[in-house]
Amino acid sequence: MQAPVQRQCSHVSTCELFPKFGLRGSLRVWQVFYCLGNFEGCARYRLSCEGRAVPASLLPNGRELNIDALVGKP
Ligand code: SF4
Repeated sequence: MQAPVQRQCSHVSTCELFPKFGLRGSLRVWQVFYCLGNFEGCARYRLSCEGRAVPASLLPNGRELNIDALVGKP
C-alpha cells in the first residue's frame, strides 16, 4: 500500500501568511486545509496566479483578517 502523496501549495515560500499560520495552534487549520491540501481553492493563491496584488490580510477563504493582531505582532 502506498502512502498518500502530500499536496503542498507552490507559494509556501513566498506567501506571507503561511509562516504566520504556524505561530498559533488555532491558525494551523488554514495550513492543513489550504496550504497542504486545497490550495487551488485559496483566494490568495488564485490572485497570485492571476498576477494580482495579494492583500496581507486576505485569508484563503476570501475574508480579511489582521493575522498580526492575532499572533501578537506589531
Ligand atoms: S495561504 Fe494560500 S497562497 Fe498562501 S501558502 Fe497557503 S494555500 Fe498557498
